[in-house]
Amino acid sequence: MFISGEWRDARSGGSFEVEDPATGEVIASVPDGGADDARAAVAAAHDAFKGWSTSTAAARADLLYRAWQLMTDRSEALAELMTREQGKPLKASRAEVKYAADFLRFYAEEATRVTGEWLPSARPDQRFLVLRQPVGVVAMITPWNYPVSMLTRKMAPALAAGCTLVLKAAEATPLCARAVFEIFEEAGTPPGVVNLVTALDPKPIGEVFTTDPHVAKLTFTGSTAVGRHLAGVAAGNLKRVSVELGGHAPFVVFPDADPVRAAKGAAALKFLNAGQACISPNRMYVHEQHEDAFVTTMVERVSKVRAGNGFDDGVGVGPLVDEAAVAKVADQVDDAVGRGADPLVGGHRLGDGEFTRGHFYAPTLLAGVGDGMKIYREETFGPVAPVITYGDVDEVIDLANDTNYGLAAYVYTRDFSTAIRAFEGLRFGIIGVNDVNPTAASAPFGGMGDSGIGREGSHDGIEEYLETKLGGFAL
Ligand code: NAD
Repeated sequence: MFISGEWRDARSGGSFEVEDPATGEVIASVPDGGADDARAAVAAAHDAFKGWSTSTAAARADLLYRAWQLMTDRSEALAELMTREQGKPLKASRAEVKYAADFLRFYAEEATRVTGEWLPSARPDQRFLVLRQPVGVVAMITPWNYPVSMLTRKMAPALAAGCTLVLKAAEATPLCARAVFEIFEEAGTPPGVVNLVTALDPKPIGEVFTTDPHVAKLTFTGSTAVGRHLAGVAAGNLKRVSVELGGHAPFVVFPDADPVRAAKGAAALKFLNAGQACISPNRMYVHEQHEDAFVTTMVERVSKVRAGNGFDDGVGVGPLVDEAAVAKVADQVDDAVGRGADPLVGGHRLGDGEFTRGHFYAPTLLAGVGDGMKIYREETFGPVAPVITYGDVDEVIDLANDTNYGLAAYVYTRDFSTAIRAFEGLRFGIIGVNDVNPTAASAPFGGMGDSGIGREGSHDGIEEYLETKLGGFAL
């Protein structure tokens, strides 16, 4: 763990093992921190806050540029570590490292663009000044599915704003977190400004993060259930809260869309990270006139997606994070098939030969999915593309919106008015129009409803780490 600028063991002396999800092999062991370690990390961040928050924006930008350079220089090693620890294919790991580094550069630039305001008063002898200042110590909790970019998406804007931080990495991917903190150490981050704790049991750490009076803000990315609980406790202690949670993205193919292009987009998007992405499409609404063309192209594409070890050439889908994840996917598919869905490709676990020791599920295409099946409502987080055929164009936006989640949605259409109506009508934070990758460091990422509160990336992302202070000046 990295606390006060030093690499430390857990106070308890305990450690836990990290496994390669493709092979089950133990690849490292890391400190198993507890509440004491979390409190020490918060105290270190608190002590460092005065110095960091009063440093110049230019100095903070320089640090982030150096971190960007270091991450870029070692991107290949970082990508290999990610594939080993998290399982995604090497090509996807490289793309994630690039995305992660983009946040460092974007917020290096954004650090120098935090401004204030000079406001008029109704009184001639009064002036108002508005100042934006860092909120204070930020506690961060991150997931395993994007184990580098989910860190920089929080750390870069927080540091740019002048906050200090304590981050608890996901128990499945502490090595990627360690590599990110090594970069910040080498970039010359002052002691205590960034602190890392690792733990097998996240609960005691979460308790410290949501109750310690020195923590000003909690930012969490992970499941809706955990985020809801932590946000509730943190808000009860009047801490600021941002939560990026789960999703259940609709993917709507309109009658005027090119169904082949839409199917190619759907197949590329669905199997990214083995479907373990919060913006992964979970309901593909295809107009009945395109069902044949869409499904035929999907069958072709999905049949060619090869599961395997992310280091092997040609592998498009790596392992799932653990056995529980495989069981959840299997349960949803079995439930859907039991209720009449048609598994056109896949539809089963992979457990023989090269798959014996890892956590694999076959790339799957399910046709004939409908309401009443678990997969229609629950986040799958696995390599399953569920296709729903619809007939009434006037109803499809309401169908797409019929979920408590509100993170991402996708539409395929060649009609400009349809695109604008869908963009306006869908109740989601991110809409891809003929676009399966509507994300970038410069763009706001976040959801509505059960998908969370707040935005990351873009100028909005730094606002999450700033307080507004008003000065009234009587002349
Ligand atoms: P998770 O909620 O189980 O874990 C996320 C993090 O929370 C981990 O670091 C974990 O250790 C920690 N955690 C779990 N229980 C805790 C507790 N009681 N107290 C404190 N910390 C606790 O989620 P996961 O399975 O790791 O991640 C998958 C979920 O994350 C999916 O639902 C996915 O949609 C979501 N996600 C959302 C986004 C987004 O930006 N909206 C991005 C990536 C993942």
